[in-house]
Amino acid sequence: MQPRHSFDAVDLPHRLLTWYDRHARILPWRARPGEPADPYRVWLSEIMLQQTTVVAVAPYYQEFLRRWPTVQALAASDLDAVLHAWQGLGYYARARNLHRCAQVVTQDYGGRFPSDEAELCRLPGVGAYTAAAIAAIAFGRRATVVDGNVERVIARLFAVTTPLPAAKAELRRLAESLTPGDRSGDYAQAIMDLGATVCVPRKPKCLLCPWAEACAARAAGTAEALPAKAPKAKKPTRHGVAFWAVNEAGAVLLRRRPETGLLGGMIEVPSTDWRSAPWTVEEATALAPVPASWVPLAGRVRHAFTHFNLELTLLAGRVAEAEDDGAGLWCPIDRLSEHALPTVMKKIARHALGKS
Ligand code: SF4
Repeated sequence: MQPRHSFDAVDLPHRLLTWYDRHARILPWRARPGEPADPYRVWLSEIMLQQTTVVAVAPYYQEFLRRWPTVQALAASDLDAVLHAWQGLGYYARARNLHRCAQVVTQDYGGRFPSDEAELCRLPGVGAYTAAAIAAIAFGRRATVVDGNVERVIARLFAVTTPLPAAKAELRRLAESLTPGDRSGDYAQAIMDLGATVCVPRKPKCLLCPWAEACAARAAGTAEALPAKAPKAKKPTRHGVAFWAVNEAGAVLLRRRPETGLLGGMIEVPSTDWRSAPWTVEEATALAPVPASWVPLAGRVRHAFTHFNLELTLLAGRVAEAEDDGAGLWCPIDRLSEHALPTVMKKIARHALGKS
């Protein structure tokens, strides 16, 4: 498939780079013109930007750099401190991998990120997109970044009508066919910027687009309908019961989740499994983390995860002094904010304290 006009694969990158020279977004993690990009900064920003917006990431990025200015400093820090600083960015597995990756780079690579895409891919938490972004932006390697923004631009430029996700391989091949050998880092950032600011999901600004004359979807009037997407399956709902246990000193029971799985290693308010069928109070109390006389609280806590919606009911119980040994971590209620609680756990706490 070809873009509709006579521009060839050499001309398209050139046009995009010329546009980028004038319209590049100014972002805190971007190197100034003429300065080489620092791989640590590129990596840190790319991990943070996975599934999160530029606006949301900026203050976190600045704070991480202030506290951990080098990959060695991050590797030497306490994991809990990293998780705490990550609070609000979601997807905590990324923060855990960030910390592990810093340790691998420090211990196995002498504190220098590898420049090879395949080798980068072997680092914890670094997938194909991030590896390509680091290779291109930090090291100037010819590497093709393909994320949702790039898929949209390419699907429109070539009018690819196959729905996602089936179209992924084709879109990658087409994106690779355009990637230039020179200025690969600028090109990667340019195509990201084009997708973020011009070839936006709704109402693409084709009049401002350096690829407008070559764009097949624009010519066909189908830009806004692309990329086509297969209909989404409805998200299932899972149910659980959380235990708000308070001891005689007025502290609430928390514990650490298993290292693997959803919210791995995070601090939680204890709960039953999250399953497809709702729980009865009797079923749940049989699984309570400590003996207490449990009272259901009115209302529910709802939280949307990527692959399912969660509905939790709460049981509150007072725990006698003799029973609170070894159950987990008892945290004074006014010190809950000192723990890196995931958002769903904060919702539980707010609900139990009558603040939701
Ligand atoms: Fe996107 Fe419009 Fe540019 Fe085509 S012309 S790539 S649809 S902004």
